[in-house]
Amino acid sequence: MTGALPLDTVRTVADLRDRVRDWRKAGLRIGLVPTMGALHAGHVELVKRAVAGCDRTVVTLFVNPAQFGPSEDYAVYPRDEVRDAALVAAEGAGLLFAPGVEEVYPEGHSTKVHVGGLGDVLEGEFRPGFFTGVATVVTKLLLQSLPDEAFFGEKDYQQLQVIKKLIRDLDIPVTATGVPTVREADGLALSSRNAYLTAEERVQAPILHGTLAQVAEQVGRGVDPRMQEEWARGQLARAGFRQVDYVTVRDASTLEEAADASRPARVLAAAWLGKARLIDNVAV
Ligand code: AMP
Repeated sequence: MTGALPLDTVRTVADLRDRVRDWRKAGLRIGLVPTMGALHAGHVELVKRAVAGCDRTVVTLFVNPAQFGPSEDYAVYPRDEVRDAALVAAEGAGLLFAPGVEEVYPEGHSTKVHVGGLGDVLEGEFRPGFFTGVATVVTKLLLQSLPDEAFFGEKDYQQLQVIKKLIRDLDIPVTATGVPTVREADGLALSSRNAYLTAEERVQAPILHGTLAQVAEQVGRGVDPRMQEEWARGQLARAGFRQVDYVTVRDASTLEEAADASRPARVLAAAWLGKARLIDNVAV
């Protein structure tokens, strides 16, 4: 890292706590936006929401090794701290927390946060260890900064529910706020991993959102969710998705199979297009 960053950056938990303590003493309301960097308009929306609702916003930048499987993309995950810092500064955030791996997981670190049930299905099933990695790092970031409010994207809908649950279960005094998914004009949810799509795959990719939107509409009209799931699976395969991990209609908060049609439901999917694993979800 060379060159001056356009906003204050701290790299240790002690420095983060010093800064936040001063703000809290001054009676300021503090917002937190955890990210893995490679920021796009989806992340920027979270920062905007935090800056609008809080006096000071901390953005964290940490590619968390604990949430990547051994065959996943940790080593090649896009990283550009100078660009990210400029984006965050332009939105009026007050502080960037960009710790190294050894600061977050010092030698001998062995405590893990596992959210049972909710964290074991869907993404938890297809990416073993993923939610334990997410829950552990988010718990640490919340306790390190103790914000009033933390902001997470509905893009990662199950992750948002897992985080809300760990906050309740562990009595962490923070409000978790979900922010609606920011999409390209053609419906594709913004994601740092969209960079893995070829030009041809990029044209096919919005079919994921289109398919989920159709399922949500049909289920909303009373069509059987299981029939819709089957239809969606076929639709995605025909559109060139090489593997569909899941496409499913679930209870919007427990993510259990939605049996009670009177409760809010969510359609969620994960599917592979070439090297990219795309996830998306829409409300019924
Ligand atoms: P990540 O850097 O991918 O871990 O994401 C950091 C935060 O940004 C998470 O809360 C994500 O849910 C959120 N996020 C990522 N993509 C989007 C998007 N397209 N719209 C809204 N939020 C997003």
